[in-house]
Parts: sequence; C-alpha cells; structure tokens
Amino acid sequence: MSVLPITLYGDKILKKKAKPINKVDNTVIRLIQNMFDTMDNADGIGLAANQVGSDKAVFILDLSHIKDFEKTKPLVIINPKIVNRSEELSVMEEGCLSIPQVRADVERPSSIKIVFQDIQLKEHEMETDGLMARVMQHEFDHLCGIYFVERLSEMKQKELKEILKKIKNRALKFEYPITEKDLSQ
Ligand code: ZN
Repeated sequence: MSVLPITLYGDKILKKKAKPINKVDNTVIRLIQNMFDTMDNADGIGLAANQVGSDKAVFILDLSHIKDFEKTKPLVIINPKIVNRSEELSVMEEGCLSIPQVRADVERPSSIKIVFQDIQLKEHEMETDGLMARVMQHEFDHLCGIYFVERLSEMKQKELKEILKKIKNRALKFEYPITEKDLSQ
C-alpha cells in the first residue's frame, strides 16, 4: 500500500463527475487501500477518489480519531446517492485536503439519507446527522465535482481568491505529498 499525492484546487479531475463502480476488482481494492494510507498520512477524516486522481465513485471516511467518535468504524462508500436532505440546516467549519490552510463555515442540511454500496457492492441505506452527515455531504460533493468553497457566499469566495491562487500554483508549504501542477490547464 502507498501514500498517493493529493490533487489540489485547480486540478481538472476535481471538477469531474465520478464514474460508477460496477465491479470491485484488484485495482479498486488497491485504490481504496491507498486512499486510506493517503488520508491517514494527511490526518484527514474523509477522502474522495478524485483527490488521489481517480474518477471512480468512491469515498472513504474515518472519524475514529475524533473525540466521541472513537467507536465509529471507518467506512467505504461506493456509488453513493443522497436520497433525502433535511430542511433544517446547520453551520459547521470545514476544511479540505485539496484546499489546505483554508477553513470556513459552511451551511448544509443537518441530516441526510444516503444510499450506497460497500466493498462487496452490497447496498445500504443510512440516515445520519452531525459530523457524519457533514463529512458525507462534503465527500459526495467531491464526486460531483464541487468544492466546499463553492458553497460559500460570493463575498467570502472573493476573500479566498488569493490563497486559492497560491494553492493552484503550489506557492505554499504543504504537509503531505501533492500532485505536480497540471501544465495542460
Ligand atoms: Zn474535500
């Protein structure tokens, strides 16, 4: 297993919609193992496949290092669909391994119902709220090509313009391996 470089804000694959997984072969298993290694190495709690350069519809999460979530098992979420979102909204601070050093309050539905498949492609339905619902919505957005900063007010997005440009140009110090700047863009 290995730690992969993480794609950064501006990398094309982060704006692409993920493709469904129809078969869990060795390539998919290796991808998921490497995603866990990459996320752990960067102290993340969630990671989507396009954050390691894959277009597959899978994200992982592991909240077990967070207080009060020690017993929460890591999850592999394949081909997710959010089938219900609560009308009630809540605000929580978010960050993203693809947008290092940026943290901001984001408003999202407080609870969701998500349908997904596990590593055996067995289907599950889960209703969740709090931090779990938050991370799932953030990662689900990644699979749809959406950054969390796109959910901020226009004013806030303007404030972030400079730092986002720095991230794109790799003009910051990064604490984990990142992709090279994509010169084709
Ligand atoms: Zn993210």
